[in-house]
Amino acid sequence: MNNSKLLNEVKTSFQQKRLKAEQECNEFITELCQDENFHKVYVTYSSAQLKLLRAQFENDKKTLQNDLSSLQNKLNSLLKQKNLNLNSLTPKYECKLCNDTGIVDGKLCTCIKKAMAVRKNALLNNNLGFKQFKDCKTDVMTDDDKKVCDLLTKWCNNYPEINKININLMGAPGTGKTFMLECVTSALIEKGYSVCFKTAFEFNELARLYHIGKAYDYSNLLNADVLVIDDLGSEPMLKNVTKEYLYNLINTRQIHGKPTLISTNLALNDLLDRYDERIFSRLVNKALSINITLSGKDKRIM
Ligand SMILES: [Zn+2]
Repeated sequence: MNNSKLLNEVKTSFQQKRLKAEQECNEFITELCQDENFHKVYVTYSSAQLKLLRAQFENDKKTLQNDLSSLQNKLNSLLKQKNLNLNSLTPKYECKLCNDTGIVDGKLCTCIKKAMAVRKNALLNNNLGFKQFKDCKTDVMTDDDKKVCDLLTKWCNNYPEINKININLMGAPGTGKTFMLECVTSALIEKGYSVCFKTAFEFNELARLYHIGKAYDYSNLLNADVLVIDDLGSEPMLKNVTKEYLYNLINTRQIHGKPTLISTNLALNDLLDRYDERIFSRLVNKALSINITLSGKDKRIM
C-alpha cells in the first residue's frame, strides 16, 4: 500500500473517531439537559456563545462577553454539583494537540504519523503483539543481559541517528534473543518507523515464492525502515534462493543505510560455514555491526 493511500485510510478513521467523540458529547449533554434548570441555563449559554461569534462591534462584544462569563459561572456551579466542569461539555478527543484532526499548523500531527506507522506495521507483520522493554523481568536478569537490554534501548532511542546498522544477536536457544528483537521492534514502531519482522523460515519462503513469481510483498523486506530476521540458520537451505536472496537483501539494505537485525543460534564460525564470505562479511562488519552473544544463564527468564 502506498503512503497516500495509507494516509487517506488513516484520515478516514480519524474522522470517524472525531464524530464518535462529538456524538458521545452530545448524548451526554442531552442527558444533562433532562434537568430542567440545567437545560435553561445551557440553552441561554449556547445562544450567548453564538451571538458573541457573530458580533461585529466592539461594544456589543464586551457586553456579550460579560453576559457569557456570568452564564458560565452559573453553568459551572450547576456542573460542580454533579462533580463535573465546563470541560465535561466538550468532546473527549484523544489528541489534545490536534483534536483528532491529524493536522497541527498545516502539518501532520505526531498522532496521525504514529497511527500511519502502526497501520503500516500491521500490514507488514502478522501481529503487533510484540514484547516491550518494559516486559523485561530485570529482577531475575543477569547483569550481562541487563547490559544488552540497555544497549538495545539506547540504540532504539538514537535511531535513526546510528552508525551501527546491523545487530547480530547470538546465543543458545532460550537465551532471550527473540524477546530482545521483539522489544526493539515495538520500540521502533512506537517511534513511528516501519519494522518488518520475519522468522528466517518466513523470509526463506517469501524469497522462494518471489523467485517463482508468486509473492508480491517481497519488496517490504527491502524497503522497511528496519528488517528483523529471527532465528537465522533454522531455515532450509534452498538452492538459488536462500543465499542469493539473503545476500541481495543485506547488501541492498546496507547500501541504503537501512538496519537489518538478526538472531541466530549459530556461532560466528558456523555462520561463515553455512552462508558464504560475501554474506558473512556484510553481516559481521566491524564498522557497521554490533555483535552480541547472550549468555542467558537463566533460561526463558524474559
Ligand atoms: Zn494529534
